[in-house]
Amino acid sequence: MRHPRLFSVANALRIAVLGTAIALLATSVAGADNLPEFGSRRAASILFKGRVPDRWMELAGGKNPPKYLQWPMPGRRLGRGFHAREGTHQAVDITAPIGTPVKVMAPGIVGYANDELKGFGNVMMVVHAGGWVTLYAHLDKFRAKPGAWVRRGDVIALSGNTGLSRGPHLHFALISHGVPLDPMLVMRGHPEKTTAPLQF
Ligand SMILES: [Zn+2]
Repeated sequence: MRHPRLFSVANALRIAVLGTAIALLATSVAGADNLPEFGSRRAASILFKGRVPDRWMELAGGKNPPKYLQWPMPGRRLGRGFHAREGTHQAVDITAPIGTPVKVMAPGIVGYANDELKGFGNVMMVVHAGGWVTLYAHLDKFRAKPGAWVRRGDVIALSGNTGLSRGPHLHFALISHGVPLDPMLVMRGHPEKTTAPLQF
């Protein structure tokens, strides 16, 4: 025969465990509510400004910037360069035929992959450790979905000529804590090889 006191202790434990689980679930739902989902328009506007929320930084690998970088496309014929002073074109343009594989510069999480940023056509933004965001625009096709984890050098898209573009090319930007950095400078001027980033 079952001991009545033991039975009630087991029941109390069960209720306590269930209560904790419900509390944890409520916390995680509340946390998710504060941040937009990856791939949403709101996520795009946050990432475009380069202000990465702490939670996203954690998910992307923590507070330290990436250790090694990969230039996104082998075709190195750079069109328009980085003109931070004028504030007009804070990115580099790499010309390449439509359909050229685009590799992600560093490990991270795809934060956005859609066409809702005016002029950029199909655009992808990836969140990296250290609060870095890389942006790849005028793409032909996406090869990774929002929320997906990508490793450095993974093909995330195919380059194209979508949006306001005068010819097939990749518009490539790197934003760190709201500040656009010159990707060529960060790569120490060596886009031909994987390299450790120049820190700012
Ligand atoms: Zn451009």
